[in-house]
Order: sequence, then C-alpha cells, then structure tokens
Amino acid sequence: MSKPDALTALGEMLGDRLSRSKSDLDLHGRNETYFPFLPPDAVAYPETTDEVAQIVRICAAHGVPLTGWGRGTSLEGHALALQGGVTIDFSRMNRVLKVNSEDMDVVVQPGLTREDLNRELRATGLFFPVDPGANASLGGMASTRASGTTAVRYGTMRDNVLALEVVLPDGRVIRTGTRARKSSAGYDLTGLFVGSEGTLGLITELTLRLHGQPEAISAAVCAFDEIGAAVDTVIQTIQLGIPMARIEFVDAATAAAFNAYASADMPEKPHLMVEFHGSAAGVAEQAESFGEVVAENGGEGFKWSSRPEDRNALWTMRHNAYYACLGLRPGATALVTDMCVPISRLAEAVEETRADIAQASIPGPILGHVGDGNFHAILLVEPDNAAELAEAKALAHRMVERALRMGGTVTGEHGIGMGKLDYMEEEHGAAWDVMGQIKRALDPMTLMNPGKMVRAN
Ligand SMILES: Cc1cc2nc3c(=O)[nH]c(=O)nc-3n(C[C@H](O)[C@H](O)[C@H](O)COP(=O)(O)OP(=O)(O)OC[C@H]3O[C@@H](n4cnc5c(N)ncnc54)[C@H](O)[C@@H]3O)c2cc1C
Repeated sequence: MSKPDALTALGEMLGDRLSRSKSDLDLHGRNETYFPFLPPDAVAYPETTDEVAQIVRICAAHGVPLTGWGRGTSLEGHALALQGGVTIDFSRMNRVLKVNSEDMDVVVQPGLTREDLNRELRATGLFFPVDPGANASLGGMASTRASGTTAVRYGTMRDNVLALEVVLPDGRVIRTGTRARKSSAGYDLTGLFVGSEGTLGLITELTLRLHGQPEAISAAVCAFDEIGAAVDTVIQTIQLGIPMARIEFVDAATAAAFNAYASADMPEKPHLMVEFHGSAAGVAEQAESFGEVVAENGGEGFKWSSRPEDRNALWTMRHNAYYACLGLRPGATALVTDMCVPISRLAEAVEETRADIAQASIPGPILGHVGDGNFHAILLVEPDNAAELAEAKALAHRMVERALRMGGTVTGEHGIGMGKLDYMEEEHGAAWDVMGQIKRALDPMTLMNPGKMVRAN
C-alpha cells in the first residue's frame, strides 16, 4: 500500500489523463483568495462514472487522499489538496445528458458550468437560475451549496438539486433522490451530499430543477446617501412581499471599483441593483412599488430598463465585483467574508460591520445578496503581509461573532473549506459531532478532501 503504487496503477488506467506536469499541479494548487499554494501529487481527468469509481477504489486501496475539483473558484480553499494525493478534475465530464422540458428538469454531468448549461437551454424556454459570480461547475456548486443573485426568488442549490449520483469513498456508486418534485422516502441523502464539499463522496451526475424564462424582465439601479437607507429599503421591500428576482447591495467603495473596472458611471454612494421577473404588466407594477419604497427612504436616480443589453451589462458588472474590488488595491489578495443574518437584523449587521472596517488599516468594500440577509466584505490584503492578514482575520472573526449573536450563520453560501472550520463548533455545538460521525461512517479512512468540514477524530 503506497502512493507511488497508486499513481502507477492510475497512470496505467488513465494514460495521459493522469497528469503530474508542473503546470497542472500549479493550477490545481492555487485558489482564488489568500490560502497558500498546496499542489496535489497528481491530477486525474476521468470521463465516466466508472472511471471515477475505479480511481476511488485504487486510492482507497493505497490510502491516498482524493479531492474533487470543478473550476477551483471556491473562496475558502475548499479544493486544495491539503494532504496531497490525487485531485479529480471533472472538466471532461461536462455534458448535458437529458433535458426533460415537460417536467422542467435536466440531467447533467458535474463538470458542466452554469453558463454552458444556460447556453444549451436557451432554445427550450427554460433556465437554471443559481448564479455564483464565477462561472462555476454544477458539481462544485452542489458541493458548496452555492447560491447567488437570484436566490431570493429561485432558492439555492439546496432547492434546485432533485437527485444525485455519487461515488462513495469505498467506490460504491449510489443514486439519491428521483425526478419527482417531492418524496418522503427515507433520509434525505441528496440534502446530505449538497454542501458536503466533497468530504463524503464525489458527485458524478446531477438532476436539476429548471424554471421557465420569464415573459418580461426589467432591472433597476438606485443610489442612497447612507448604507442604512439602502438596507432599510431592502427590508421593507421583502416585508411588503414585492417579488424581487434579484436585490443586491453594493457600498460606495464597490461603486468606485465598478467605475474603474467596468467604466461605469455611478455616484460613489451605496447602491441597490434589482431585477423583476414576470408578465409585462406585473414587472411594471413591481418596479413602481419598489420605486415608492426607494423614494420613501430618500433613494435617488431610480432608473429601470427592460433592454437585455442594459441588464446584461449590469449583471456582468455585478458578477465581476470581486475582481473589480481586487483592482482597488493592485497586487492585493483578499479574505472574503460571508455572514448571513435574519432579514430583520440586516441593517444592524451591515452598520456594525461598516463601522468596524472603518477603524481598520485595510480596505474592505461591502456588497451582498441582501434580499437573503447575506453580505460580504472583501478584505484586501497584501500577499505575504502577515500583519494585514491577521487584521483581516480579526475583522472576519468579529463578523462571525456578530452573525451568530444575531441568529445567523458564519457562511451564507461560500461554505467551510479551510477558512471556516474553526467556527463549526460555535455554530453547530453537538450537531458538529454528528457531522463527524457521519463522516467516519462513510469515509472511515478520511480520504475524501481530508482536513475539511469536520475534525478527523
Ligand atoms: C468572482 C467570484 C464570485 C463568486 N460569487 C459567489 C456567489 O455569489 N455565491 C456563491 O455561492 N459562491 C460564489 N463564489 C464561490 C464559488 O464560485 C462557489 O463556491 C462555487 O460553488 C464553486 O464551484 P467550483 O466549480 O469552482 O468548485 P471548486 O472550487 O472546484 O470546488 C468546490 C468544492 O467542491 C468540491 N467538488 C468539486 N466538484 C465536486 C464533485 N463533482 N463532487 C464532489 N465534490 C466536488 C471540491 O473538492 C471543493 O471542496 C464566487 C467565486 C468567485 C471567484
């Protein structure tokens, strides 16, 4: 039982689809934020579920760790091979297997990206709504229980995954869930694997819920003098039941970042960006009701448009917000926070966070999917500057404490990875022990993405 023997066996099985090239190891050792370079020993590129199962069996026989890789866009070092071993890159399992238009669902392979899925669905009148800023893979998105700008209307990956095929740590292949819209048949294993960050098994197929493309869409932007007024507008809009498809907040620093990165022309003030989906009359009515709430809270420049090119420009800019904020401090990397609180505590949570960041020596633009009570601070630090990273971690720690004090969670959508592990006990108490028991039951040798989500023993 040895790693070299496992790599030899994998090489015989996969040929040049087992890579040990420097460029492949470099690519799969990097991450989008501040975590260090951690390359695996090899990268495998399977093309079928059978191949994934064989890779898992070989690795299990030799005690070699395995880490899944979708597009590597996760923000907490999730896909880094902390203990080396084999990274399984799903980019060659990227096909749409079946569109069931009548039932509004689709069966896909895990390496397919959300943008490629929606391109393939364009002619069907259907779409898949979950949209993290990055063009992530659907397997990665299920594994982090991702969401994005549309969760306020269409839900997160939790709500949009109907069924999965999973290779377990011992190489067994199981199916969880069915294409039925509901089921009372046993433990919800689909829900268990969604959000498990590749620590319990590798997802090789997903059945996803689709939605009808709305008849009419309009998008709007408005500015506020104060963060509090923008956030109050969000809270009142949600409480009034205005059916927003998107309602996003950016602070003045993020607006400045958009101006520099995307040649936008926004006043350097807090903004809301919103979208309405429905019939032409419904969309107009929603926009009007929202406009009244904006006016009551002193918002200005309320502009809305149904032109697809305006909407696309707006949401492309929003999806690139992370890179725009990085541009505020050339050469910087970031620690990205992800607190999420009940909507009634949102104004307080954002204000306290803003005041805390204002005292700090590092910049920290704030933006978020505020319709869900979820917002991020992008804490910009110089790479290899230990003092700045310590300051960013202290700010992030206070945000975590704030989220938990307000009845919220340490991570609304990004997940645990390496960065949030220390907070699991505080958020979950004894329930975290139960997660550890589940892990040990399914993965007794701790080979699947070791060092993440739970403590090994
Ligand atoms: C600019 C930017 C904006 C972002 N915006 C958002 C946002 O709005 N909302 C949000 O939720 N996230 C956001 N993210 C984070 C990221 O896009 C999500 O976490 C996404 O779900 C990761 O998908 P991925 O394909 O890149 O997965 P990876 O990063 O490759 O992997 C993520 C985790 O899933 C595991 N994994 C991957 N594939 C599989 C599989 N087939 N089976 C089992 N485990 C697997 C990996 O081991 C890892 O633990 C953003 C990131 C960036 C860079």
